[in-house]
Formats: sequence, C-alpha cells, structure tokens
Amino acid sequence: MLPGAFRLGGAQVGEFKMKHAIVIGSGAGGATAAKELQGKFDVIVLEAGNEFQPFPLKLATIERMKKTGLLLDERVMSLSFRNLQIRKTPDMVLVNGIGLGGTTTICTGSAVRMDKDLKAIGINLDAEFEEVFREIPVTTVHQKRWHKTTRRLFEICGELGLDPQPMPKMGNYEKCISCGRCTYGCRHGAKWDSRQFLQIARERGAQVLTNCRVERVVIENGHATGVEARHGWTRQFYPADLIVLAAGGFGTPVILQNSGIPCEPRLFVDPVLCLATKWENALQCKEIEMPFFMQREHYILSPYFDYVSFLFNKAWKYPAKDTLGIMIKLADSTTGSISKQELRKTLTPLDRERLSGAIETGKEILRRFGAKDRDIFLGTINAGHPGGMLPLTEREAESFHHDRLPENLYVADATLIPESLGNPPILTIVAIAKRVSKLCIEKLTKNPDQGGVV
Ligand SMILES: Cc1cc2nc3c(=O)[nH]c(=O)nc-3n(C[C@H](O)[C@H](O)[C@H](O)COP(=O)(O)OP(=O)(O)OC[C@H]3O[C@@H](n4cnc5c(N)ncnc54)[C@H](O)[C@@H]3O)c2cc1C
Ligand code: SF4
Repeated sequence: MLPGAFRLGGAQVGEFKMKHAIVIGSGAGGATAAKELQGKFDVIVLEAGNEFQPFPLKLATIERMKKTGLLLDERVMSLSFRNLQIRKTPDMVLVNGIGLGGTTTICTGSAVRMDKDLKAIGINLDAEFEEVFREIPVTTVHQKRWHKTTRRLFEICGELGLDPQPMPKMGNYEKCISCGRCTYGCRHGAKWDSRQFLQIARERGAQVLTNCRVERVVIENGHATGVEARHGWTRQFYPADLIVLAAGGFGTPVILQNSGIPCEPRLFVDPVLCLATKWENALQCKEIEMPFFMQREHYILSPYFDYVSFLFNKAWKYPAKDTLGIMIKLADSTTGSISKQELRKTLTPLDRERLSGAIETGKEILRRFGAKDRDIFLGTINAGHPGGMLPLTEREAESFHHDRLPENLYVADATLIPESLGNPPILTIVAIAKRVSKLCIEKLTKNPDQGGVV
C-alpha cells in the first residue's frame, strides 16, 4: 500500500466516527495491540520491515559457505536473511526480527509465563494470561518426537538433579517435522508467531503498512498528534488519536527519545552463551530448538544448536550433525541503553560471575554425556530479548502509563518489562499488550464527559 493511501477520517460505527489508532510494530506487542484495539479504534499498523520470508539457504549450503572462511562477521547474515537485524557491541551480538511478526517469526516457539517481577510491583495479569492461553495453543507434544540425543540429555539432567522440563511451545506441533530451523522461520505451520494475531486484526478491518519506519511521535501542547515515518524514500506524517508504540526493546526507546521523551538506561537483553562438544551424529541440528529447559537462579539451561556460533565462531569447527550444544540464557543486569546514535551493552562483573557458574553446570551435563573437558568449547555471546528502557514501576501498576508520555501515547512491548527475565518473554509481552489495549479502550474511547481524555 502507498503512503497516504490508508483511510483517513475514521470508519463510521452507528452514528459515531471511530477514532484512529496507530500501532507501531507488528511483533509480540504490536500484533496483540492491533488485534485488541481494532473495532474500538480504526487501527493502522506501521511496520518498518516487509513480509516475513524464512531463511532460504539449506544447511549443506551454509556449511559450504562456512568452509570458504568468508563468513567473518555476523552482520553478513542479514544480507541473505532480510528479516534479521544484527547489531554488535564489544561483548555480544544482538539479534532481532524486522518485518511482519517482528522477532516472533525467528523465535523457538518457547512459551513460559514470566510475570513474577510484575506481581512484585502490584500487577496482576491473571485475566490476560487466561486469554493468552485460550488464544495461543501451548503444548509439549513435541516430546514424543525427540531423538536419541535429546532423550539421553534429558535423562542425564534429571540424574544431575537439575529438574529438566519439556519446553512448552506455542503452535501446532503435530505438524512439526523436527527440521531444527525454528529460528530461521517455520515453513511447516507448526510454530505460532504474531502474524496470526495480525491476520485477525486485518480480518477485523485493521490496515498494515509495511516498509514504514517511524522516526518520531509528533507532540503538540502535551498531546500526541501523529507520527512521522519514512516509507521508502518519502517522509510522511500519519495523524492519530491514539498511538501505541511496540517497536520492540531496541526500536521503542529510539522513537521515544527522538520524540523528546527520555528513557532509562536499564536495557537488558538476556545474553545467550552456548557450550558445545563434538559428538558424532548428535543430530541436534535436526531437532526442535530448545526441546527442554532447566530453570536455575538467574539463568536457564537448554539443549540448543547455536547457528550464530556455528557459522562465525572459529572454535565451532565440527560438522553441524556432530555438534552438541547446551545453551545458557542469562537474566542480565539492567544496565545498558540504545539511542539513535549509540548502543551500549556490556556484561557486568556480576553477569560474568553468574555465567561462569552456569558454564560449570553446562560442562557437568556434557561430561556426564561422555565429553572430555578438553573437547568442550564455548560460543559467541548473542542476545535477542531486549527490553526494560521504560520499565513499569509501582507508580504505573494501575495505569501502565508513564507520566512523561502524553495521555494518548502508550507503550505495549518489552520496553515495559522491569527486570530481565532470562527466559522466553513472548507470552508475558502479549499479556502486557492486552492490558495496555484494555486501558486504552477504557480511557480513550469514552467521551470526555464520561472521563475519556480525547
Ligand atoms: C533467535 C531468537 C529466538 C527467540 N525465541 C523466543 C522464544 O522461543 N520464546 C519467547 O518467548 N521469546 C523468544 N525470543 C524473544 C522474542 O521473540 C522477543 O522478545 C519478542 O518478540 C519481543 O516482542 P516485542 O513486541 O517487544 O518486539 P518485536 O517482536 O521485536 O517487534 C517489534 C516490531 O517493531 C518493528 N519496528 C522496529 N522499529 C520500528 C520503527 N521505527 N517503525 C516501525 N516498526 C518498527 C519491527 O520490525 C518489529 O516488527 C527470541 C528472540 C530471538 C532473537
Ligand atoms: S523444528 Fe518444527 S517448529 Fe521448528 S521450524 Fe522445524 S517444523 Fe517448525
């Protein structure tokens, strides 16, 4: 659709003109907000990327590319995988999805409710989680397809007292063929991603504009009047009565700051470090990613074939089928920031200390499997759960709305999460976006004489 081609003026509902809402981003938070708001508002989703296309290259081709030695920098991945955005800091590689479905399209489908920190500040999302579990199928049925290596690892972790649990997964895993390419986009209709919510929003009448990168929210006299966005080479103003920012943990803080709204330097990313060993015919690359997990204090452990390290880390020199890895996903310190100019994210001494402890546990698992210490190697730290730069506190427990925002501007993504989770965040973000949408409807669709504000 061309810029400016979206409907202006609002749809007519009975005698009333429906107000316009702009939702920025179509990932976990954005697609949820679009689905919930459409019908109460006339919604247009502005999405920076394009239609999602799964990564096209076969594993054999990737292995040949790796052998050329030309894969020197992780950022080249986004040349052949346009829906992947990669940034780097001296400590780690940062990954997120760009395009319809946001980062949910490249997730492993793992589904865990993670709202302990929200509860601690007085936020009860029980009703929203109930809706989430009604709308998104969550299952561990994939367990019946696990191959030998995974089953043995699961036994070992149990023997070590690590309490392994099959990972709940979002989607219809009867369709899963264990191709091991969840983070490249599922071609088999097994894994759920937020495009399913976006589709519902569209069927209800929402419009979606792709290739439209929002730069800032335009604020006049304390009121958000619309957004300024780039669509291809053109810059355009999109007016709205309500603006919901869901451009993700990296995107939302940049838009806020470009709009003159400060954020907190509390960026977390949930760093992932994998350790691995050579194991003939481990065939982990042909297994569902993260089939089970072990919840530890400050991190989780899970079997994982780490493509980032496999492709770009020189220590990962064995064929994919003979590489067996364990992932550590750390709940990192909330210290870091992103702006239009720079990205700051390093591991603190405490993060490093916690990682060292986790590495020891990971090594114990691989040793018990039969690996020798000298054959265990580490991967590249990579991270893909950004958030935290406009965290909810007790003050916003009721309103989900920070004082520094105009009354008709809301955030509905991982930016609101107060502490790093060290765990899959999608379900929690969906629940947050549902609550934000309810509040927007309650506050902003009423007439001013009923307590509405626009
Ligand atoms: C490899 C990988 C695997 C993962 N696996 C899991 C998993 O199994 N389970 C889980 O729970 N979590 C997983 N995650 C994390 C999860 O996918 C993200 O935390 C979640 O999708 C974040 O939701 P969000 O709405 O905050 O942002 P996103 O889903 O990232 O959505 C942000 C959207 O905004 C768009 N956007 C950005 N900037 C702009 C702009 N300026 N203008 C317009 N649009 C913009 C983006 O294109 C994107 O569509 C994984 C992450 C990665 C990287
Ligand atoms: S392993 Fe299953 S869920 Fe993952 S991409 Fe393959 S078919 Fe889809």
